[in-house]
Amino acid sequence: MATDKTQLQTVEKELNNLKEQIEDHNYRYYVLDAPVISDTEYDQLMKRLLDMEAQYPELATADSPSQKVGGQPLSQFSKVDHLVPMYSLSNAFNENDLREFDRRVKKDLGTDQVSYVCELKIDGLAISLYYEQGRLIRGATRGDGTTGEDITENLKRIGSIPLKLRQPVTLEVRGEAFLSKKEFARINQEREEQGEMLFANPRNAAAGSLRQLDPKVVEKRALDVFMYGLGHTDQQSLAAAHLPIEKQADIFSVFQELGLKTNKEVKVIANIEEVIDIVQYWQEHRQQLPYEIDGLVVKVNSFPQQQQLGFTAKSPRYAIALKFPAEQGISVIEDVIFSV
Ligand code: NAD
Repeated sequence: MATDKTQLQTVEKELNNLKEQIEDHNYRYYVLDAPVISDTEYDQLMKRLLDMEAQYPELATADSPSQKVGGQPLSQFSKVDHLVPMYSLSNAFNENDLREFDRRVKKDLGTDQVSYVCELKIDGLAISLYYEQGRLIRGATRGDGTTGEDITENLKRIGSIPLKLRQPVTLEVRGEAFLSKKEFARINQEREEQGEMLFANPRNAAAGSLRQLDPKVVEKRALDVFMYGLGHTDQQSLAAAHLPIEKQADIFSVFQELGLKTNKEVKVIANIEEVIDIVQYWQEHRQQLPYEIDGLVVKVNSFPQQQQLGFTAKSPRYAIALKFPAEQGISVIEDVIFSV
């Protein structure tokens, strides 16, 4: 019908406009490390896009930003093809979204027997480290999830990244590189004194620092890491070292044995209501942490269940990120200029 067609054209126009806006913000955030809107505002745009694509599936396209991870790798660095893709996370914004996630997981698994691991969502930059027989071979950014940037020389300058593990295992580990609130303030104060442009937030400062061509920049900035995930893994080498990783929670104990730094605030939870209590706790106490978090990540603990749930084009179905509302709005962001 004519009205339906006109209506669809209007929706398509709005959808294209929304996609263009999001692509532009992705470029500023992932490539330039210089966002011009807050993460909360960005998340609202993305939610609108997802809602519209769900309502009008005939207008959804494979190249939509709702289907893509991160941004393009910078051409100054060599490219690294990840042995296992680095995914993004789907988002929850409130308790009901978390309960809905729990319902979906149990329905897809066909069982109520599910335990979760609840981790802090560190507000930094995703990195991947590849160790061969215990030696650090390569370090990369996430990039578009399939291909990242080779930033090995920069990552080697981070004190908490071991060049050699305590056991000769072969594995790809994932985690977050970040700057503490104190170090972020120190860097910005130094920059202010030198009349240089200020960083908008610790995440952009960490990303900007790690994507510098001169590794000495990283040496001067006390970047840190928390490792929390696995990519490609040679299970035989882990078994030989008597360090099997059979569920999500094992990652933390095994990584510590290997000399990899992990976050201490990790909890194994038997039901989603307990996760909601933890969310409330961290919403009230996040200020007390020495580093920024932008939410919590909830992951199904069992690896076989994770496998059964699988992935969408962009994110695993066995995990969700509960995003906190932004602490600072765009008015604050606009006062600062973003550059390295
Ligand atoms: P995401 O930040 O929503 O979640 C995925 C990322 O979480 C992972 O890649 C990893 O880096 C991080 N993470 C931290 N702790 C983790 C843990 N314990 N376990 C697993 N992952 C952990 O997804 P994204 O694709 O990195 O970025 C999308 C988000 O970035 C948006 O939701 C928005 O907040 C922000 N963004 C903002 C702008 C802007 O203009 N302000 C633009 C693009 C993206």
